[in-house]
Parts: sequence; structure tokens; C-alpha cells
Amino acid sequence: MERYSMFIDGQEVQDASGRTIESLNPYSGKPWALVPDGSEADVDRAVRAARHAFDKGPWGQMTATQRGALLRKLGDIIARDAEELATIESRDNGKLYREMLGQWKYIPEWFYYYAGMADKLQGDTIPSDRPNFFIYTRREPIGVVGAITPWNSPMLLLTFKLAPGLAAGCTFVVKPSEHTPVSTLELAKRIQEAGFPAGVFNVVTGMGKIGAALVSHPDVDKIAFTGATETGKVIAAAAAKNLTRVSLELGGKSPNIVFDDADLDVAANGAIAGIFGATGQTCMAGSRLLVQESVHDRLLERIVERTKQIRLGDPMHEDTEMGPVSNEPQLRKVLEYIDVARADGATCAYGGGLDPTLGGYFVQPTIFSNVTNDMRIAREEVFGPILSVIKFKDEDDAVEIANDTRFGLAAAVWTQNVHRAHRVAHRLRAGTVWVNAYRVVSFAAPFGGFKESGLGRENGMDSIREFTETKSVYVELSGAPRDPFKLG
Ligand code: NAD
Repeated sequence: MERYSMFIDGQEVQDASGRTIESLNPYSGKPWALVPDGSEADVDRAVRAARHAFDKGPWGQMTATQRGALLRKLGDIIARDAEELATIESRDNGKLYREMLGQWKYIPEWFYYYAGMADKLQGDTIPSDRPNFFIYTRREPIGVVGAITPWNSPMLLLTFKLAPGLAAGCTFVVKPSEHTPVSTLELAKRIQEAGFPAGVFNVVTGMGKIGAALVSHPDVDKIAFTGATETGKVIAAAAAKNLTRVSLELGGKSPNIVFDDADLDVAANGAIAGIFGATGQTCMAGSRLLVQESVHDRLLERIVERTKQIRLGDPMHEDTEMGPVSNEPQLRKVLEYIDVARADGATCAYGGGLDPTLGGYFVQPTIFSNVTNDMRIAREEVFGPILSVIKFKDEDDAVEIANDTRFGLAAAVWTQNVHRAHRVAHRLRAGTVWVNAYRVVSFAAPFGGFKESGLGRENGMDSIREFTETKSVYVELSGAPRDPFKLG
């Protein structure tokens, strides 16, 4: 069993109590690593280290160009170790090695992109209506960031926060998911190797209460959270007590809309990629497949045929297409929703239970047809390999069903009509819309949710703003004494 330490103020530390959490390999069903079960005292220590590094350490004295150079170096180290890190991540969360390797090879791009942006974060000179004043703005780092991450893609989702936040000059205390803490601790070693000063990056491992302690800590300036919508609401309410800034990346129930003029083979693959990729454990999963009535039966048949061939198995094997569900609570949730869908009258067109040969955490890729948008299976996020197929009549009907949800993270439109593609993309209330594609994310494009799918944007140029505050500076030009009782 591997044993890991937390990372606080440049040091590897164990929780004083000696308590640990077992990190489970979902493929074998066995624990493979032990991490400290941190305490509120550890959170306080880590926040104090991050505060000190921000206010008094060498980090605060570095130029943005120097910060950019460190980010580039970190990107190089991650690229060097991508295979090793992907193996660890796959062992920890059960996702396919080749998907994790793809992520780890792409992650350096985030660090390079924001490294370049660090010293281009300019303020403005303001055309002043007051002749004696020169006014300008400065974009200053927001301060200490508490980053709280989920288990499905721990490192990619942390990178969305870390790369712009470090570029802006913030310091971090990270609380990874209790199910997948190891990759964040491995990253800490590489951040140290890159030469970031002590206290800039700290990791406290533990259960949800560690996240809660971070959110309510008075010395944390911003919380950057990715996780479930219900947790996001609790965090927003707790953060409001100290007026701590928050950005929230939350859940989804994303519509994947296939019109009758789409290339059905292409759309069938897109539907499968949207829901069974990553065993359905992505926030942007295309869990509602909206199909125009006239092509419904033909498309469903193609999807079922391809789904029957999906190869379940060891996430480390090259030819495996779908791995296990990541953890025990998630497995229970997925199986419960299969029962809910049946009880509500949906038809199970394929799958519908544990995989009969592999068992363990392996759920069959499951397709429900005859779903209506008012059923729970169409309204609630499952976060697993369950597709709900819903019929629609025409474009207006499709848009209405698609938008009839409390979520608004992503959506896709499948059509060969370019006018319809843009028209529908504009009418969908979602933070990301794909046309004839699914599950594509770029470091250069803002990512985030409408409605209850989130607050704020990650990635792209917008995201660095989330880690800065704007300050206006007024400089008096005449130097003449002013009437103390006259404003301005
Ligand atoms: P979760 O909300 O249960 O946990 C996320 C993190 O929050 C964990 O580290 C957990 O320990 C911590 N936490 C739990 N309670 C807390 C509290 N009261 N205060 C502070 N922190 C607390 O989510 P999960 O099950 O780990 O992840 C799956 C969810 O994440 C899904 O809903 C999925 O849609 C969402 N997600 C969203 C995005 C996105 O970018 N929008 C990406 C991936 C996953």
C-alpha cells in the first residue's frame, strides 16, 4: 500500500492524529493508497501558509514574467511525467488509462497558455472627467484561493483553477476529493520541483468537512469549487457569511439533440461518446438524447447495436472502452436510478444492471427509451452510464424540451443544416454548445454553466479575471492645496 502525506508550506506532513483514508482502486475494488484524514487545524495551517506566501513571501515580490516562467516549467515537468501521472489517476478513479493519458498530455497546455497571459494582464488608463486627476486601474490577484475538486477528473479540473490563479499571482489551498486524492499530492511534488516558493501551493486531504472548513476560513479570499450542484449551494451560502468570492462548476443534464437531417451514423457515435465515454461520469455527459420522431427508431437501433459491442474491462488495457463506476456511493446511486427509470415507465432498451461477467463496480451501459422529460431520469443528474432517449416533433419542441431543466452546462446539435445549427445553438440555455460534436473542451474557450450548473467561467481569457480584483488609482496632478470640504 502506498502512503502519502499532505503538503503544507513546502513540507510533507501527516495529520497530527495519525488518522488516514484509504483510496480505493475501483477496478480491483481494493484500497491501494493511504492519505491523511486531515483536520480543521491542518486547514488553518495551510491557509496561514498560503496567506503568508501571498502577503510576505517571495511569491508576492515576483514579476508576472517570473511567474509565467515557473508555470512553463511546471507544464514541462507534467509533460515529462504524463504516463506515470495517468497511471496513478486511472488507478485512483478507474477511468481509462488512454483517456487519462490524453488529459495529462493536454494539461501542460493550460500552464503554457496562462504562462503567456501572466504578464499581459494589463490595467486601463481611464479618460478622466476630472482635469486634475490621472486615473488608472490595476488588476491585482484576489489572494488566497481555496480550491475544492471532485473525483471524476481531479487534475484537469484543478488545472482549470490553478493555471489562471497562479498566473494572476494567487496562492492555493487545495482539498481534493476523498475518493481520488493522490494525483493532487503527486502534483504538489512537481510544483515544488518547478521551484514555486513554499506556501504557494498546499494540499489538505480529508472528507467534505475539510472543504467546509476551507470555505468558512476568514483568511480565504476565494473558493473555486467543482462538484455537485447541491454541494455548490451549501458552499455559496457558507461563503456568503464572509463575502468570500466563489466560482462554482456544477452538475448537468445536458441535451444531445439529433434532427432528422443529421448524418445518423455520426450522430449515433456522438450520442455514445456523450454518455458512455468516461462511464458517464462527466459533468457534461449528454444524458438526454433528444431525437426527432421521424428518425427515432432508426437512430435508437444503431445506438443499441453499437452499445452492445462496448468493451468493458481493465481501464489500463488499450482496447477497453468503458471502465467501472468510480466508487461505492456512486455505484449505489447509478443502480438506484435504473430502478427509478423502470418504475416511472421508461423502457430499458439495453443494459439495466451490473455487468453479469465483471460484477464489482461494472455497470452495463444502459439505454432507456420512451422517456418523457418530466421523469426523474430526465431531470436529475445520475453521473453514470445511463442514457435517456426522448422524442421531439420539431425545432421549437426540441428547444423547449432541451431548456426545460434546472441545469445549463452543455448541449449538442446534430444537423447538416448550417442555419438550423446556429439558430438552435443560440436558443439553447447552456454554457457550451457543440455542433455535430460532443465532449470537446479547449483551454482557450470559457467553460461554465447557465442556471444551476454554475457561477463564473473557467478557461479562456475570462477565467483569469475570476482570480483578480480591479483597483482604481486616482493621482492628483496639480499638487495645489485643495478645499478640504469640497468633493473631488
Ligand atoms: P461532491 O460535491 O460530492 O464533492 C466535491 C468536493 O466537495 C469533494 O472534494 C468533497 O469532499 C467536497 N465537499 C463535500 N461537501 C462539502 C462541503 N459541505 N463544503 C465544502 N466541500 C465539500 O461532488 P463529486 O461527487 O465529487 O463529483 C461529482 C459532481 O461534480 C457531479 O455533480 C458533476 O456534475 C460535478 N462536476 C462538475 C464539473 C464542471 O466543471 N461543471 C466537472 C466535473 C464534475
